[in-house]
Amino acid sequence: MKLVLLGTGCPQVDPRRMGPAQLVLAAGRKLLFDCGSGVTQRLVQAGVKGAEIDALFLTHLHSDHVIDFHQLLVSSWHQGRDRPWKLFGPPGTIAFVERSAALWKEELERRIAHERRASTAGLEVEVKEFTDQQTLRGGGVTVTAIRVNHDPWPEAYGFVVEENGQRLVLSGDTTVWPPLIEAARGADCLLHEVLIRRELRPEEHRSEETIAAVASYHTAASEVGAVAAEADVGVLILSHFVPTRFDAEALVAEVRAAWSGPLVLGEDLMRYDLATRTLEAGGAMIALPR
Ligand SMILES: [Zn+2]
Ligand SMILES: [Zn+2]
Repeated sequence: MKLVLLGTGCPQVDPRRMGPAQLVLAAGRKLLFDCGSGVTQRLVQAGVKGAEIDALFLTHLHSDHVIDFHQLLVSSWHQGRDRPWKLFGPPGTIAFVERSAALWKEELERRIAHERRASTAGLEVEVKEFTDQQTLRGGGVTVTAIRVNHDPWPEAYGFVVEENGQRLVLSGDTTVWPPLIEAARGADCLLHEVLIRRELRPEEHRSEETIAAVASYHTAASEVGAVAAEADVGVLILSHFVPTRFDAEALVAEVRAAWSGPLVLGEDLMRYDLATRTLEAGGAMIALPR
């Protein structure tokens, strides 16, 4: 199983870190998790067409995780997608897809009528809403939704992806959350979100109150190492950096206080192969100890 980081950022605009999105390649399937800003550009850079995606999973409906949904639909259709999307999301996803379709209905109808492409099947979306601990199976891959804590956001999930004895856990957006740690116990790879409190300073647009509010529904850099240690994972990869620019050495030192295992500060387009324990980034390949 391979994990490709498409977007390691957050709502903050940063060309180096696009909005949250991950691609998982397993058992010949291409699974996309979230579709934040820039996902279609990053897919092209990763050498994968949106037309080839077998299923899309959404962790939650915060805009930074779903904002490019319609762009993904239309661009994949332009790439020749000729089969409906399979979309798995939390409660509220059906309404989200319906509202998105309603917003674009008139534009899309005019486009379809004018462009006369061979098929419109690629614009159809089959939505299934999952619940906590629900397992979805297909083609040798299983994905289990784990409800996490992103209060006051009502429905937020992480995922456990399993294939051929390998286990990948995606945290989604969450505070430190014992059920997620339990689900991640012994996993080959944990991709976890992180908020770097020291890098968030009050300024004109951001008060101490706002910083505290944002921090309250994420996992702090001072906490995420302990999450990996308690779950005893094979490698901890950090993503969803809030903010997107930070002192990397200071972040490593902070996480290292509680986690001595393999640690990766994720970057867009980084690839990790769970089977071979190799990491590809910017032309370099790093093999982690087995
Ligand atoms: Zn987010
Ligand atoms: Zn969120």
